[in-house]
Parts: sequence; C-alpha cells; structure tokens
Amino acid sequence: MKINIIGHKSPDTDSVVSSIVLVDLLEKKKGPLNFSDSEIEPKRTGKLNKETKFVLNYFKKETPSLVKSARKKNVFLVDHGGYEESVDKIKEAEIVGVLDHHRLGGISTDSPIFYRTEPLGSTSTILAKMFYENEVSLIKKQAGLLLAGILSDTLNLTSPTTTKVDKRIAKKLSEISKEDPEKLAEKMFQAKSDISDIPFKELIKKDYKEYKSGGTNFGIGVWETIAPRKIKENKEEILSALKKFKKRSKMDLIFFASIDIFKNEAEIFLLEEEREVAEKVFNKKPKDNLILLKKVSSRKKQLVPPLMKFFKKR
Ligand code: MN
Ligand code: MN
Repeated sequence: MKINIIGHKSPDTDSVVSSIVLVDLLEKKKGPLNFSDSEIEPKRTGKLNKETKFVLNYFKKETPSLVKSARKKNVFLVDHGGYEESVDKIKEAEIVGVLDHHRLGGISTDSPIFYRTEPLGSTSTILAKMFYENEVSLIKKQAGLLLAGILSDTLNLTSPTTTKVDKRIAKKLSEISKEDPEKLAEKMFQAKSDISDIPFKELIKKDYKEYKSGGTNFGIGVWETIAPRKIKENKEEILSALKKFKKRSKMDLIFFASIDIFKNEAEIFLLEEEREVAEKVFNKKPKDNLILLKKVSSRKKQLVPPLMKFFKKR
C-alpha cells in the first residue's frame, strides 16, 4: 500500500515539516501507527511559501513532490481535518489517518482510522509529543524542523494559540537541534515578509482558507509579516485584487488580513459587503475599507469563530 501524507491547500511550514517528520515516525511502525508494508511519502499540495522554502533549505531537506488530486489515493492528513481545506478530489480518497490541531472538519470514513487532534499551537507540537510517547528519539534535523513548525504557527510562541505544552516542547526541540528559537524565528519571518516578487493577486491567496456556516460561504486570506506597511501602502491594489478574486470564486464573502507579527494586530481589508459584516462581527467602525484589530493574530482562534457564529445565526 502507498500512503501519501498531505497537509492543507496553500501549504505552510507546520503542514510541510509535520508531513516530512511524520514519515520517520510511521516508519517505526509503533502501536496504532503501524501501517505495515506501506510505502509512505510526504507530499506538498502547492507552491511553498518563502518561509517554508527557507526552512527546508536551512535544514537541508528535500522539497516534497507535488500532489494535485487525492483521487484513489490513500492519504494521511496533517494540519487539517476538513474537506474544504484539503487537496482536490479528497472525497474520492481513502483517508487512513488524521493528525491535526484545528476544529473538527466533518470528515467521515468507512473504516476505523488513526485520528488525533489536540488544541495545541501546532501539528508539529503534537507530533513531537508522539515521538516521546512512542519512545522514539528525535534526531537533530527532525527536532529543528519541528521547532520551525511550532515557531511558524505560534509566531514565535506569541500567538493566542500558544499553550504551555508548545513552550515546553519548543524548549526541548531547541536543545536537541541546538537552534536558538529567537534567531531561527527571526530568519524565518524575514524570509516570509519578502513580497518583492509576489503579485497582489497571489499574495491574497498565499495563505487562504474557506469556510461555511449557516448558508454562507466565506474565505479568509491572511498574510503574516514583520513589514505590514508594505502591505498597507498598496491598499488599492489589494482591494482590486480581492474584488476580482471574489468574482471568480464561489464565495459569498472574502476577507484578507495583514497580520503584524511583532505588534500582534490584524488589519482586515474589506470590500463593501464584507465591511458591513465586519463592523457587526468585530464591533468596530471600519476606516477606509480597513479595520484594525488589536491583539488579534490568529485566524483560527480570533477571526473564524466570531464569523462562523455570526453566519450561523443569520
Ligand atoms: Mn497550517
Ligand atoms: Mn498548523
């Protein structure tokens, strides 16, 4: 049997490094993780962002090959647990496992599968725990990759999704990998913030996810950066790219948020209808198609839940 380990669409560092390192653990065939005689391979679901490219390059790891469709494949999902966030034709795949830290996404299967989700800061954190639980030691490179996954998802352990467990595991991983988390995070965020060769129509979709609540379909793109000014000064271009994207998509509403990693705040770019919704949901008056939310840095924890709740009632 062949198993592809896949992260969500618009791959990020956590989804890519956890796909790669999970292979090493599955190959040990321990306990419920025993997929005997399987050939296991990590796959990427799209173009890697600059942060992830930097991380793979830094830890000298090969880039996983691309998978475009899950049709008739055996797949192990990491860093997502819903069909919407997954690769094309996921409903025609055999899902053999899920390892995640997001909301339950309504996946159903015909047979019992390995399924694990914990509300921790990253999939990398859970995966590191699984190495400890199964008494498999992490080597330097694996620890470095997982550390990068945690730092990426938790914005260097500052985002509201960060837990004590993430902090403890990150410390252990930094000891094993001999990496200073501060320095590694800075290099990663620098790589991530370089937008010089990214057209705006791509920027808004780089880290983009779709949701459904009540009868409303909506999408949220986020851009985490240490240089938010570069984004804001191109407001008109971004709004016009959003408008075009919305027209082509099947979504009722599309939001885009630029997230300032250092200041821990999100600036949401709003088209007309989105503006009315955002004003009610976040209880704040938008200014020139922008709404600034202080102490907001997590789409999963701070943007998605209030929007979901709002549309459910509508
Ligand atoms: Mn992710
Ligand atoms: Mn994640």
